[in-house]
Amino acid sequence: MALPDYCKYIIIGAGMHGLSTAYHLARELRTKKRGSGSDILVIDKTAIGAGASGIACGVIRNNYYQPAMQELISHSVNIWEEDADGYGYLPVGYMQISPESMHEDVHAIYERQKDIAYGSEFIEGEKDCLRYMRGNIFEDWRARNITSILHEKKGGYAHNTKALYRLADKAEAEGVRILTGVEVKELVQNGCISAVETTKGRIQCDYTIIGAGPWANHFWKMLGLPDAIDVKDPDDNIHPNMKMWTYWSLQEGTLGVDPSYGLDNQGKMPPVIHVDTDAPLYSSEDQTLITDDMWGIYYKPDFHFGGIQGGCMPNRVETQEVAVDPYGIDSPDFIVGPEFAHTWTSALAHCQKRYEDQYDRYSKQPSGGLGAFSPDNFPVFDVFRENCYFIADSSHGYKMIGVGKLVAKEIMGERQALLKPFRFDRYENGELLPESKSPFPWS
Ligand SMILES: Cc1cc2nc3c(=O)[nH]c(=O)nc-3n(C[C@H](O)[C@H](O)[C@H](O)COP(=O)(O)OP(=O)(O)OC[C@H]3O[C@@H](n4cnc5c(N)ncnc54)[C@H](O)[C@@H]3O)c2cc1C
Repeated sequence: MALPDYCKYIIIGAGMHGLSTAYHLARELRTKKRGSGSDILVIDKTAIGAGASGIACGVIRNNYYQPAMQELISHSVNIWEEDADGYGYLPVGYMQISPESMHEDVHAIYERQKDIAYGSEFIEGEKDCLRYMRGNIFEDWRARNITSILHEKKGGYAHNTKALYRLADKAEAEGVRILTGVEVKELVQNGCISAVETTKGRIQCDYTIIGAGPWANHFWKMLGLPDAIDVKDPDDNIHPNMKMWTYWSLQEGTLGVDPSYGLDNQGKMPPVIHVDTDAPLYSSEDQTLITDDMWGIYYKPDFHFGGIQGGCMPNRVETQEVAVDPYGIDSPDFIVGPEFAHTWTSALAHCQKRYEDQYDRYSKQPSGGLGAFSPDNFPVFDVFRENCYFIADSSHGYKMIGVGKLVAKEIMGERQALLKPFRFDRYENGELLPESKSPFPWS
């Protein structure tokens, strides 16, 4: 396809947010008779799913301590359910399995799920948790120090690229054009954005939408936004000069057994399992102590990844200059190594006996990837330079298929209450989202 000189809406990034916004905006334009999909161009420097969306574990859960996140995810789960087969969405449910230090927080999550009619069950007490897991899910369950379980009956996971191609097909059926192999080098600004300078030439536009995932900081800089900001916390303390974007290396991998090895007591696909615990973790290879600090793990049988796929806590990247490119499994710096394989397979064995002697079946395929995180680790959804919508999801966002729908409505002039808690001025106003006691930066 030739590069057009002009397109009314330019969407940068063919990941979950760019594609979802493209499809939903095209629908908005058509149904409101204010244009059509042919007014929208999606540009990606590499390909559909070349960023975080294409390597994501694909877990979809509502388990968030922040009410605003719970409501937003609940909206997204409805979108997943609208076309479950098309998106490769498997509504197997999700379990947050926790130690006593998280009991109160997770109970609060459960109470709010009742308020928003998000179906879940809450099990309390060490004995009842063990009975629930062994009786209903895995008879070989044996994780220790577990005193509460939140069992979400909705959510689960999706086959990461299938959902992206489905969104791309739907967008193209509405007339949206998707151009890959075109890199944005500059946002031409004159107060607002008047054009996008790419490796193939300049395209004039009226409105730009950025869904650049781990490349958020690149576009933040192109917009001339500050590298560091002052952040006011809810007690009115100012935290000066906090870096706007920091990076974490997400630790994920696959145990190369047949996925059916991970089925539940009934031979069915189990819920996605997420365990946090303060029980010491010992090596399943040589029984040495790996950690006696709090640790966490998540996993699921996954036919798309070809095994038991999951991860554990990410590592914060401390270097000043972070090479986002080459991204994902092509990165020499941010794929997981033997240490992850050892910890994760030992954690699997801690949870279930069947994984006891399986560590040498860990898949040697490269996996894992980088995420860009905001100062409070939560998304920024906001308009900058008057006509540039920035969808910076702080690495929460594969599950957030519905954000594109809400953004499309905002672009049409309808403010969305679900997006309000995620505005950039929350840092200045001390309206941060509450922090949980989870060992993960995104819970
Ligand atoms: C290993 C891993 C596992 C994850 N697991 C989950 C999970 O289980 N559940 C969940 O909800 N979230 C998960 N996430 C987070 C989730 O994947 C991301 O938050 C989400 O996919 C981001 O979507 P996006 O559309 O913003 O960005 P991306 O999918 O990263 O897409 C950005 C696109 O922008 C393009 N681009 C970048 N720069 C330019 C440029 N200059 N010009 C043109 N195009 C450009 C890239 O090529 C890329 O295709 C995971 C992330 C990682 C790394």
